[in-house]
Amino acid sequence: MERETLLIHNGYETDPQTGALGVPILQTSTFDQGDLSEHREFDYARSGNPTRKALEDIIAALEGGAGGYAFGSGIAAVSSVLGILSAGDHIIAAEDVYGGTWRILNTFYKRWGLSVTPVDTTDPDRIREAIRPNTRALFLETPSNPLLKITDLRTCLGIAREAGIISIVDNTFMTPLLQRPLELGADIVVHSATKFLGGHSDVVSGLAVTRDEALGKRIYAVQNSFGAVPGPWDVWLVIRGIKTLKVRLKAQEESAAKLVRHLTGRPRVSAVFYPGLADHPGRDIHEAQASGAGAVFSFKTETAEQALRFLGRVKYAAAAVSLGGVETIASYPVRMSHAAMPPEERARLGITDTLIRISVGLEDPGDLIADFDNALNLRI
Ligand SMILES: *Cc1c(COP(=O)(O)O)cnc(C)c1O
Repeated sequence: MERETLLIHNGYETDPQTGALGVPILQTSTFDQGDLSEHREFDYARSGNPTRKALEDIIAALEGGAGGYAFGSGIAAVSSVLGILSAGDHIIAAEDVYGGTWRILNTFYKRWGLSVTPVDTTDPDRIREAIRPNTRALFLETPSNPLLKITDLRTCLGIAREAGIISIVDNTFMTPLLQRPLELGADIVVHSATKFLGGHSDVVSGLAVTRDEALGKRIYAVQNSFGAVPGPWDVWLVIRGIKTLKVRLKAQEESAAKLVRHLTGRPRVSAVFYPGLADHPGRDIHEAQASGAGAVFSFKTETAEQALRFLGRVKYAAAAVSLGGVETIASYPVRMSHAAMPPEERARLGITDTLIRISVGLEDPGDLIADFDNALNLRI
């Protein structure tokens, strides 16, 4: 069965009790245990809820993993996965991981005794060099945010496997429709389901999937004891979003490619970053590990003033954080996702005050192009 069919036919397309073509929202905190003669699957809703289980099974099937785990946000998924580690453990993380991942590693978990080495994972040798005797995990994200840098998953995951290190890949930008890290050798995949999986900018949610059951048990122990779980309504919104992932992502990706083609080489546009561009660094690697370039790109204007004017003038793109929704979103990393990063560090990574990240929505691409032209003052 193709992944596209699995989005719809995943074992939860019909409710066995009622025949309903939708997963029931079971809004309950606890479950009657009858005469206590048998252990029932569900007892308390932090430990498990049938609506949540449906989403957990669906994401596990889509990623090709042994077990899925749902959380109240993407960062709750990341934090809970990292919660399987112990004080004294060392982590190697991509230097351009999502800002919230960076923060939890460098503040919260630092206080709890984890150490982290940030690494440019576009060069696998940097990972090899960073491995210490107490290294327990490698955290990757590709394409990365906001410059869409590409990490060679097969090579880097192979290095982790050889060294006996747990590998974790944040697959939010690609979704299992375009990239499946477990098939490339990852141990754990995490998602912000707030983005493409939910897809409608109306829910905050997170997911984790493990390659094997033993790791799954460790994550379940954190999920149950840490308790960063989602409620059934939010879970249901993600399940519904996943059903239309194929048509949304395809259309958004096509529009992104059109916008990128239009903007490349235009006056006031000094650079465009998109894995679908022929000269994008790592494009061949991306093509070998993913089946599409996705719907997120970024570009640089010539001056900061032009970038700010674009954000103020653009009509069909909200100037906002987040991505993956049906609405086009333009974000300004220096003031949003990377505001907390020291300016020198931002400069080193190429995150300038001329950089704008675009998540392309479902608007007509012609309207978006005209709107962007107008916002960049390119209309003659
Ligand atoms: C948004 C995002 C997260 C965090 O997810 P939340 O749902 O906002 O907590 C993690 N990783 C990536 C790549 C993201 O884009």
